[in-house]
Amino acid sequence: MIYLDNAATSPLSQAALTAMIQVLEETFGNPSSTHSHGRAASKILRQARSRLAQLLNCQDQDLIFTSGGTESNNLAIKGYALAHQNRGKHLITTAIEHHSVLDTIQYLVDRFGFEASYIKPKDGKITAQQVQEALRPDTILVSTMYANNETGYLLPIQEISQLLKDHPAAYHVDAVQVMGKLPINLQELGVDFLSASAHKFHGPKGVGFLYAKQVQFDKLLHGGSQENKRRAGTENLAAIQAMVVALEESLDNYQDKLDKVEGLRQEVLSQLEQDQIDFYLNQAQPQLPHIINIGFPKVTNDSLLLRLDLAGISISTGSACTAGTIEPSHVLAAFYGPNSTRLTESVRISLSDQNSLAEMNLFVEKLKEILGG
Ligand code: PLP
Repeated sequence: MIYLDNAATSPLSQAALTAMIQVLEETFGNPSSTHSHGRAASKILRQARSRLAQLLNCQDQDLIFTSGGTESNNLAIKGYALAHQNRGKHLITTAIEHHSVLDTIQYLVDRFGFEASYIKPKDGKITAQQVQEALRPDTILVSTMYANNETGYLLPIQEISQLLKDHPAAYHVDAVQVMGKLPINLQELGVDFLSASAHKFHGPKGVGFLYAKQVQFDKLLHGGSQENKRRAGTENLAAIQAMVVALEESLDNYQDKLDKVEGLRQEVLSQLEQDQIDFYLNQAQPQLPHIINIGFPKVTNDSLLLRLDLAGISISTGSACTAGTIEPSHVLAAFYGPNSTRLTESVRISLSDQNSLAEMNLFVEKLKEILGG
């Protein structure tokens, strides 16, 4: 079995698992309790937050632990938009966001009368200039991803953040696909919100965090004063601890890991070229090397997916699967148009530093068998 769907989720690292089990076994207290069991739990929580803040160069109190990327995106977007709607009701995002951003914004439009502008890629890119052109005096929030989950395309978030210094709109970045792959320095980045999810960097599922600078926003979950009164509910301590361990591990020697993944990617592509396999890449530069979004002319992605699955290889189309059927990708539609054959031919191969060269060789061999026969 070969797992090449790391952008969907990644296997839990051994160190994260060990950290998780240790907390589950040894520290069951509620961090909000004042007795010794509670204090032991609250110490772990405090230390985990501090370690995370150090990794990201921000203040401890700017980090809110959540249930993952979807919740973090919802909290930043709904929380900020609803708290600031008296200043304006215009939101800016891109057409290539994850559904946890797009659907949240749609909800604000449908139920609260917000207006949204969707930036579409132009010549294969989203630019800060496009954000500049979309800005209005009543724009209160800009939300863009850092790297696209279907193609790995890296958006110019530093430039967008820079230009927003001259505008009162807050800036939210969905960094779910980048966290753990590239170092993030929040002081330098200067964004207001940033979302992350542990299961994309070898941490457990159902845990993540939102970085929120000292900006005012409504909470989504009411009922307790946890997370500095910004997210009620007893913290998932074991998962939080495991997440921090996984992030430390991912960022340790991150350049070596990036180089390794780049090498694996090049290996797959050069083998396909050598064997004169007809393929195209759906890519925009710059991009993370982890994602190979690739199409094979006249081969439909659902049949390819199925046949690779039968051969023990897990990949995906990158777009949402609903009730077992593959919806056409809104990301590829934004890049290539809704009628492009790329939408039905493309698959996403997503790598991690835990994949090996042997796996790449076997994958290409199976792929060639399927395409040839
Ligand atoms: N944002 C992006 C870019 C993603 O790729 C994902 C997950 O695929 C999410 C948000 C949602 O994260 P989670 O699965 O933790 O809710």
